[in-house]
Amino acid sequence: MAAIVMQLYSCSNRCIFCNPKGSLTKATDKKLKEVKKASEAQAAELIKEGIKCVEVSGTDPIEHPEIASFIKNLKKEYGFEYVILSTHGKNMSDPKLVDKLSEAGLDKVKIPFYGSNARIHDSITQIEGSFDETIKGVENIIDNTNIDLLITSLIMRQNYKDVLNIFSLASNYAYEVGFAIPCAPESVDFTRFSISFDEIKPYLLSLLKEADKDEEVALTIYDIPYCVPGFYDDRIQMTRPPIVGKSYSIRPEFRTDKPNVPSYRVKRALDICKRCKCNDICDGFYEKYLELMGNAQLKSLKPITEIDQ
Ligand code: SF4
Repeated sequence: MAAIVMQLYSCSNRCIFCNPKGSLTKATDKKLKEVKKASEAQAAELIKEGIKCVEVSGTDPIEHPEIASFIKNLKKEYGFEYVILSTHGKNMSDPKLVDKLSEAGLDKVKIPFYGSNARIHDSITQIEGSFDETIKGVENIIDNTNIDLLITSLIMRQNYKDVLNIFSLASNYAYEVGFAIPCAPESVDFTRFSISFDEIKPYLLSLLKEADKDEEVALTIYDIPYCVPGFYDDRIQMTRPPIVGKSYSIRPEFRTDKPNVPSYRVKRALDICKRCKCNDICDGFYEKYLELMGNAQLKSLKPITEIDQ
């Protein structure tokens, strides 16, 4: 996957894993112009590399006032064939914006549900009313456009017991549903939302089982290694850093020796990985999770011959 990262550093949500203090405030006009210019440079570079499908992400791209015209340019001027917008979706509660994005040629939108109800979702975004706005946005997309929809969620302490309900709600709207675990910058208090894999496991197993019953909806679990459920499942996928082009650079405080991998996305393999049959398709755990929880909960990893049973 290739991505254009609109580094607005502006978001009207205050998600506990990203912007807990609300420090991402509204971008200035100067910042908006800079971001647009940088995003156009990225687009030019990616299209030159022959990339035809791109995801527009960042914090949060939909809050750029020119997002619709930017997407229109990606399709009509630059020639991208498929454009995905990753957003909290609240602004899509405005039907006029949804119309504009649809007319611009937006192909797909990726929106998170952090809970199956306002109490749970809003406790994570820390913005009252955010759940209702996001749902309204999703309904506007479904009712008035042909834009594809992917509903995502992050499994956290606040919502891990709600994952089946989230899946059920998401299935009402989307044919694709994805779950992952949050990774967060050093400055964020990880203990507020992180949860051990031992606690996640029973809910993850129920989720995989439940999704088996629904032939119309495709479930994908991202970046939770196979040893957590204890078997290989092709619905579990390890993500790779997106192609972003040379003109994009990670903020200095998050840079690592790996290009395009910020510090909070660094993963590490364990000793047990050496004898795991998934070793060549799995790059281990986010370091932050290992730092916080150690690997005691992974002792139950089945020997190679028993995986898949
Ligand atoms: S390679 Fe390592 S982290 Fe991945 S599933 Fe196997 S044991 Fe777990």
